[in-house]
Amino acid sequence: MENDLAKTAYLATLRHLSHVAPTIAKQIALELQTQRSHLKLIASENYSSLTVQLAMGNLLTDKYCEGYPHHRFYAGCEQVDAIEEEAATLAKELFGADHAYVQPHSGADANLVALWAILTERIQTPFMEKLGRKNPDQLNSEEFETLRQTLCNQTLLGLSLGSGGHLTHGFRQNFSAKMMRAVHYDVDPTSHRLDYGKIAEIARKERPLILLAGYSAYPRHIDFAKMREIADEVGATFMVDMAHFAGLVAGKAFQGVNNPVSYAHVLTTTTHKTLRGPRGGMVLCNKEFRDSVNKGCPMVLGGPLPHVIASKAIAFREALTPEFERYAAQVVANARTLAEELIKEGVSLITGGTDNHLVLIDLSKTPLTGRMVETILVEAGITSNRNMIPFDPEGAWYTSGIRLGTPALTTLGMGSDEMREVARIIAKVIRNCKPESAKSRARATIEPKIMKEARSRVQALLDRYPLYPEIDLEEVACG
Ligand code: PLP
Repeated sequence: MENDLAKTAYLATLRHLSHVAPTIAKQIALELQTQRSHLKLIASENYSSLTVQLAMGNLLTDKYCEGYPHHRFYAGCEQVDAIEEEAATLAKELFGADHAYVQPHSGADANLVALWAILTERIQTPFMEKLGRKNPDQLNSEEFETLRQTLCNQTLLGLSLGSGGHLTHGFRQNFSAKMMRAVHYDVDPTSHRLDYGKIAEIARKERPLILLAGYSAYPRHIDFAKMREIADEVGATFMVDMAHFAGLVAGKAFQGVNNPVSYAHVLTTTTHKTLRGPRGGMVLCNKEFRDSVNKGCPMVLGGPLPHVIASKAIAFREALTPEFERYAAQVVANARTLAEELIKEGVSLITGGTDNHLVLIDLSKTPLTGRMVETILVEAGITSNRNMIPFDPEGAWYTSGIRLGTPALTTLGMGSDEMREVARIIAKVIRNCKPESAKSRARATIEPKIMKEARSRVQALLDRYPLYPEIDLEEVACG
């Protein structure tokens, strides 16, 4: 019944759009067709439920609500207050966190809020107290300049981009390396795993204000107890960016020292990757940082998106179900099977396997770049993304790696048998791929017969696991 209603509403929206904005409706329909004709192995993407998507299409988008529940800079926010409080309550229950701030528009925004809140609590507040002032408006220009420079000189210690960290973890071209002094730890050059002894050594030398853990492309568990110990030893605030694996924490696939919630002072996440919600971000924190985090908007963020917050509440409710726990366990099991089969087929993997939802193929001993393989795989009907491997000689544009993830295919219902088939298709494509010329780092060729076979095997899988089968494009008349 619920599904029938969602389908009717979804189709009605598309039908309406096809009348009033046919060009937009056409692109939406084409996007659905494209997604239906490819196996999605992009580790950071997923398929949200129709309900999650429908919750965003309403008048909440019109509402301004800077501030936080019951403390707004605009009138008429009673309903938005209720929605935001419900989303935050569900998030706290889902993760067992003290406080949840559900406004960030994205993962990068969540990181900005978190870094700013830690700087505020740990540096700005004591600075103001020492001078006997309440806020920076009361400082003269010399005092304000001292505060500004003191904030900028604080050290952020995070995983380097090349070792699988994110741009917002202190990459030099990103704001995070300009608002703070950013230093990095790498994975071990041989095992490609985190080396906690080495991280501790760097932390002792650099004395960071913030020790940041989390990744976009690291296929192994993190021992958050060990990381917290290092942070405590050097007096750092321990921040975890769980953008990639929040769904695995919510679904209890990550437990004990692999669940960061009780170890971190501040956690950030996206809501759209393994968590399977709408595109957005969130900050979780303990009481120490709550007040500053709540001031994220308007101090750091633009006006909240209440329609997206409503959708986050729906996604958190979905993630609180036993079905989601089964999903999270299957995501991890599928990644393991995918990794094992790729290795069996002769494909080399960074760290030789995975503990989470992602696998990082190492092409450095082949004549291929990540760029070549990414392009050829799309032709075969598989979307993935090229990714740097640790200490990558090919750099960030061409790369020597391919990152694969299982969250989306698991949402479609695929299991171990399908993962083995996916691995065999990918391995065969890679084995038969050749650089187009000695000079090319971007283009590769493959025999048409092999490509045809890969494409038809991909199609056979797609036919068995259709995306949004309830949406019939013919019916919408916008295809
Ligand atoms: N943090 C990590 C670890 C990520 O992998 C990403 C995105 O891929 C982000 C933050 C940024 O998320 P968003 O694209 O929503 O800003």
